Amino acid sequence: MDITKSLDTLIVGAGFAGMYSLHKQLSDGFKAEIYEQADDVGGTWYWNRYPGARCDIESMDYSYSFSEELQQEWNWKEKYGTQPELLKYAQYVCKKFNLRDKINFNTKITKANFNEKKQNWFIKTDKDEVINSKNLILATGNLSTPSTPHFPGINEFNGNIYHTGAWPKDMPNFKGKRVGIIGTGSSGVQSIPIISETAQQLLVFQRTPNFSLPARHRDLQEDRRDEYKKNYKKYRNLAKNSSFGIAKYQPPTQSAFDVSENERNDIYEKAWQEGGQAMLFAFTDLLTNEKANETAAEFVRNKIRRIVKDKRTAELLCPTNHPIGTKRLCLDSNYFETYNKENVSLIDVSNNPIEKITYNGLITNNTEYLFDDLVFATGFDAMTGAVNAIDIRNENDISLKSIWDKGPKTYLGIMVSHFPNLFIITGPQSPGVKSQMILSIEQHVDFVNNLIVHKQKNNYNTVSANLNSQNEWVNHNNEVANSTLYPLAHSWYNGDNIVGKSRNFMPYVGGVANYKNICDEKIKNNYEGFEFL
Ligand code: FAD
Ligand code: NAP
Repeated sequence: MDITKSLDTLIVGAGFAGMYSLHKQLSDGFKAEIYEQADDVGGTWYWNRYPGARCDIESMDYSYSFSEELQQEWNWKEKYGTQPELLKYAQYVCKKFNLRDKINFNTKITKANFNEKKQNWFIKTDKDEVINSKNLILATGNLSTPSTPHFPGINEFNGNIYHTGAWPKDMPNFKGKRVGIIGTGSSGVQSIPIISETAQQLLVFQRTPNFSLPARHRDLQEDRRDEYKKNYKKYRNLAKNSSFGIAKYQPPTQSAFDVSENERNDIYEKAWQEGGQAMLFAFTDLLTNEKANETAAEFVRNKIRRIVKDKRTAELLCPTNHPIGTKRLCLDSNYFETYNKENVSLIDVSNNPIEKITYNGLITNNTEYLFDDLVFATGFDAMTGAVNAIDIRNENDISLKSIWDKGPKTYLGIMVSHFPNLFIITGPQSPGVKSQMILSIEQHVDFVNNLIVHKQKNNYNTVSANLNSQNEWVNHNNEVANSTLYPLAHSWYNGDNIVGKSRNFMPYVGGVANYKNICDEKIKNNYEGFEFL
């Protein structure tokens, strides 16, 4: 086997996690490089170029905090950054910290084998290069493996097919076209109103309605931006000490039943008018008590009923099969209003699944719906998809995928026992996807970087997770999840959206502040739960 390159650390992925990992590793003097399958940085914001794509956590929060200079010099233009703005931001960071030379673009990592004798990872690319590296960091993303349902006839379709998660660089022109879209999660909710502006006709195929709250999007006022920048330290600390990593959403103090019905509805109304996820943070028990949750859910359903003029369509859009907030809550700009437009139709495929794609459209319930182009807003093989796509094997030639067959198991979402020197950024059983993700990414990267520095300084060859510690962490993760309503929903958090994927609630929902305290405690206890050799 010819070795193309030897590294201290190979990082897979050039999204926010990969770029910050590279910056930290280079700053600490390690020979580190990124391998990225795309031709540029940005990850999520490189791939998701669909109409209307933007973040739904305000950009003053959803941004790196590690460099004061960066957060002072970058000026977000809009409250919620658009995909082009977020991509530019990623490119700016890449340039500012001189990362580009250390990123191998257009190269996919396909295999990684740990060699016990050499105490190294041997890593293979799709260009048949073999790199050996002491450390392997998977910054491969939780929502980076688009999922397209296997409908029969898909190859027969005459028009263009798009997936929101792998959108082409040249924006398709839907003007005068009949467009079909499958999926009403966050990607569908963001893109449907925009596509409806140009399409001659838009047919939305909905299997499950989703709760969505108004984003109340607007340009970012200069005075608000300046005030935030002046007080960034305070806001970042508030975020770190919160449950979901967002400064303005501090833990609530009262139950939904501590107040009268009128007061409760006034609180919901205020949150609805304010926009964003505020409503979910109104009461302590919204995500733990079904009755409390139902008060918020019914409030939103009543809003939908008031906005959508056609009664049948309104009822179809009202979610009834899961508690509000247990699937990723959507934020929208005029989503429900879009169904009042004459060129938009909602087709319910809950009881009559899509049977097949045809030359001219698709068939459900013995009816053929005709359209020119088809958009899949059908989501991702979340949290494990990108990791499992790499054939990762330990010294005994056991693959990580086979170990995760019945669901992923990690220690703190960072390491997997029996896989030395393999690190995951915001992996399963960490709060990553249940938080402002850049905050979680920074915390994880700092942790992993410190772990690697500790290993190096103490002349250890390897670090791995202790199996008992891992089992305890997984049990704790499940206990916390089971004390909430989250597992009740059919969602990608549970792996439910992928046929054949085993059902496990994957994110840690104990909150980012608790989680960071736990991680800090492990460090204080000499990296408790980690084994160094
Ligand atoms: P990614 O950005 O997914 O980057 C992973 C990279 O790894 C990709 O570029 C991929 O090509 C590369 N890669 C994967 N496997 C390989 C391989 N084998 N070889 C080579 N390269 C590989 N989070 C929030 O907190 N707030 C939001 O508002 C928000 N909005 C979102 C909107 C959309 C449309 C989506 C899809 C996600 C959103 N997220 C949001 C989550 C978002 O994914 C994270 O915030 C963050 O961008 C993840 O960064 P990352 O670097 O971990 O992963
Ligand atoms: P998603 O939430 O998983 O939604 C996928 C949609 O496709 C669902 O409505 C699903 O219906 C539908 N679907 C899947 N298979 C289907 C089938 N065979 N027939 C009919 N319908 C089918 O995916 P997403 O919208 O891409 O969002 C994924 C995550 O990315 C979000 O939860 C969020 O974390 C992130 N995101 C964030 C934003 C943002 O606003 N910042 C935007 C986009 C994405 P069922 O519900 O019935 O399965």
